[in-house]
Parts: sequence; C-alpha cells; structure tokens
Amino acid sequence: MTLRDLGFFVRGRISSGIARALNARRAGPLPAAVPLADVAAGDDQPLALSALLEGRTNVEREAAVAWYLARRGVSVGRHRFATFEGSGENLSVDVGDGDRVLVLIAHHDAVPGSPGANDNAAAVGILLHLLPRLTVPRGLRVRLLFTAAEELGYLGARAYVRDIPLGSIAGVLSLELCGIGDSLAVWDADTETDFLRRVTGTLGGLGLGRDEGYHVVGRIPVFGSDHRAFAAAGIPAYGLSVVPFAEAEGLRRFVLSPVRSALMHAVRRPPPFDTYHTSRDASSTLDPRALDLVSRALTAIVSEFR
Ligand SMILES: [Zn+2]
Repeated sequence: MTLRDLGFFVRGRISSGIARALNARRAGPLPAAVPLADVAAGDDQPLALSALLEGRTNVEREAAVAWYLARRGVSVGRHRFATFEGSGENLSVDVGDGDRVLVLIAHHDAVPGSPGANDNAAAVGILLHLLPRLTVPRGLRVRLLFTAAEELGYLGARAYVRDIPLGSIAGVLSLELCGIGDSLAVWDADTETDFLRRVTGTLGGLGLGRDEGYHVVGRIPVFGSDHRAFAAAGIPAYGLSVVPFAEAEGLRRFVLSPVRSALMHAVRRPPPFDTYHTSRDASSTLDPRALDLVSRALTAIVSEFR
C-alpha cells in the first residue's frame, strides 16, 4: 500500500464514520426500493432509471446495474477487486471504437443507511440514459464506468487504475451529486488542461455562462470522487456535479473550508449537502431538470470531442 493509498483509505473511513454518526442520529425508515422489473418497464429518463439503485444495499445496487446492462444486450467489462479495504465489481461499457478514450464515471455504491439517490443513483441513471443515445465522433471511444466502493476512499477506482492499462485515456469526468440544482460545477479543476478547456468550451457553447450556468472550482479539500484515482496517475480528471445557483457562494465557502466541512453536522449545510450521506437522500428531493442538464452537457461534450 502506497502512502497515497493510505490517505485515500483514511479519508474514506472518516467520511463513512461521519455518515454513520449522522444516520444513527436521524435514522428513519428508508423508502422501499422499486422492483427492478418495474423500473425496466418504465421510461428510460435519468430520474426513472435512478430507481434501479435507490434504497438498495450495495450488493443489490451493483447487481442492478449489471442486470440492466445485460438486459440492454451490451458487452460489459467486469473488473472485480478485493483488498483488505473491501471488494466489489466495476462495470464498464464502451461506446464507439476509437483509440482515444473519454471516461465518464458514476459510482454505484452508497453509504450504509442512506438511500443514495443524489449520491449517486442519479448519476448512474444519467449514464444509463445516455448509453443508447450517445453520438461518438470517429477516433473516440466513450467508456461509461460504473465503479464500486467509491465511498471507501475511491477503492473501486483505485483498483481500476492499478489493474487496467490507462495509456489511451484522454480525460475523465466523475459524476457526483447530479440531481439537485440548476448550475454545473466542474471541480478539483486546479490545473488548466486541454481537456478542461474542451469541457468548459462545450458548456459555453451550450449557452451556459461561466460562474452562472457552470462553475469551475479548484481542489476541494474534504469531498472527493473517483476521478482522484485517475488524477493521481497523471490523467486530466475532474468531478462534475450540479448545484443550486442561488447557493453558489455558500457552497464555495462550505466545500473550500476544511474546518467548516469537518464540522458539517454542526453548521447549516447548503443544498445539496443537507441530504448528502444521510437517510434523507431520497429521489423525492431530486429535480429531473438537474439530471437533464447533466445529460445535455455530456451529450455535447461527447459529440464535440476532437
Ligand atoms: Zn458519491
């Protein structure tokens, strides 16, 4: 185990410890999970598809994604891992057959005690919705990567980066908290890269103004996501979320202040962090327009990727 892995591990343990404490205090009945067959028989809009995961255990969430992908008849890459930290299976689907790879990630696990709707069933719903709809330019391949064990210090993504050759990856976006708000946030973006310029250029082309329709946020000290495992390997990799524009300033202060974040159960947490890792992270709090905004942005990022 490298020192960096140890850091990821400790961070994951602290974050799930805080979540457990929060949920012990505010434990309520979790919403009943919708039967998988009912979800599959419904529409395939992102919000509807997020019900594949919401309110299920992590083993069930992983199985639900695998079940849905198998049902769509696509070829699925399966990467199983097991370490002393935990185990799980990363699932991936490639769209297009180019040599350069754009990786879009949505982790399928959740913290125990939370229905895990905004974190991160919404993001999984978005990628499953996009799967049959993406127009991928020649020379590009888009990898939809559904990781396990993100909540254990990005364990699934770290195992993936360790085991899978990364040479052809041009950029990575990890979708987190994509179901509440009206403004996009590209974060952990403390270095200007060609990939970041492409992403923000596309968002601008959609008519989204910088610091309004989208925000670029530097390194976030406490929160993180799977892209960090790729960034640690030198690949341009960022988080992608939706936030309520009206809360942007409070959010910036909240996520950029480690002390405030560490005391997050004691201060008023701005949305979407008021439900983050709690038993209240249910689909009733999600706004379909937020998921649609991310879908629209990713569709454009992919189709304009050169
Ligand atoms: Zn998450």
